[in-house]
Amino acid sequence: MSQIPVAKPVLDEQEVEAVRRVILSGWVTQGPEVAAFEEEFADFVGAAHACAVSNCTTALHLALKAVGVEPGDEVITVSHTFIATANAIRYCGAVPVFVDIEKDGYNIDPDLIEAAITPRTKAILCVHQLGMPCDLRRVVTIAARHLIPVIEDAACATGSEILWKGRWEKIGKPHGDIACFSFHPRKVVTTGDGGMLTTANPEYDRKFRLWRQHGMSVTDAVRHGSKQVIFECYPELGYNYRMTDMQAAVGREQLKRLPAIIARRREIARQYAEQLDATAAIALPVEPKWARSNWQSFCVRLLPHLDQREVMQELLDRGVSTRRGIMNIHTEEAYAEDGSHRISSSLERSLSAQRHAIILPLFVQMRDSELNSVAGAMKAVVHVCDPAIKRAG
Ligand SMILES: *Cc1c(COP(=O)(O)O)cnc(C)c1O
Repeated sequence: MSQIPVAKPVLDEQEVEAVRRVILSGWVTQGPEVAAFEEEFADFVGAAHACAVSNCTTALHLALKAVGVEPGDEVITVSHTFIATANAIRYCGAVPVFVDIEKDGYNIDPDLIEAAITPRTKAILCVHQLGMPCDLRRVVTIAARHLIPVIEDAACATGSEILWKGRWEKIGKPHGDIACFSFHPRKVVTTGDGGMLTTANPEYDRKFRLWRQHGMSVTDAVRHGSKQVIFECYPELGYNYRMTDMQAAVGREQLKRLPAIIARRREIARQYAEQLDATAAIALPVEPKWARSNWQSFCVRLLPHLDQREVMQELLDRGVSTRRGIMNIHTEEAYAEDGSHRISSSLERSLSAQRHAIILPLFVQMRDSELNSVAGAMKAVVHVCDPAIKRAG
């Protein structure tokens, strides 16, 4: 029996052909394909500006810099996220301030934000974890009251939607000040590695473009197209956070596939929910009425009597790969040092989520038979691993 993987990117001949075209064109980094990808991505999410970069971590770094995060400042975020969220804050010399997640989900609890605000708070960095939109309306309202910018870590949320003033809008419009996306293969669309920043603010967009290319005053495209000799200058410290044209060409093909990818992911999530609804030992993911996930991951929560590792091993023995839920940054050794972060609220829910959450296989190519196998294995395993049943048996 072959193993059912947790995830699998959708890559095919169209992507190969796109890369071939770029390689043979002779222009392989940050050129016409990047520009076209940015335009198409901006169109897709409904943003005024989109700027492509090397990955989402570098996107987060530039977003935090753009809103003015400096050494000694604080940025409010969650510990219950991928480590890059907080690492980007530390790249600015700033201190991540961790608050807990909501009771039923994996996103920031807006009720805890206000207590975490201090005179040094320079930004709120909220995460749309696993593709599920966080409660942006409340985050943005609190932030506006305190004149604090909001950055959205939308790494997993390409194609997710939120009900905004009565209309469904894509994550990344953005509803905060800046949204950051990832195109790592574990996300719903991929360019190998890659990232995107979207904003309505032209000044932020100008800064992203300057900083991603060594702080260089003119782009290669401008120099290349000029009839006059241009000497560039470097007004500010920059970085090399460029995306290549080969990656962008793949991204453009992925964008064409995106509506079908999301439709299929939503269908699989719906079927999982239907099949596992009556299984009392697991809690299904909660999609609020104002949110439409892209289902980057389908994460179920085991009831506390079940042992996560045991359940995952039993599933693996039955040919089903799973992953443990999201990590908690504050428990990692890289965050052991004093001053590397500050904890503002009890992180009990974050810790509990990590102990009990399991990510099930979900990928576009998944066959109905595979989906049925996963759901069937899940139902069998929670029974086998139930301590009460083990005692009785
Ligand atoms: C994947 C991920 C990132 C990092 O994205 P990269 O493109 O790999 O740098 C950041 N935040 C979250 C929530 C992620 O899931």
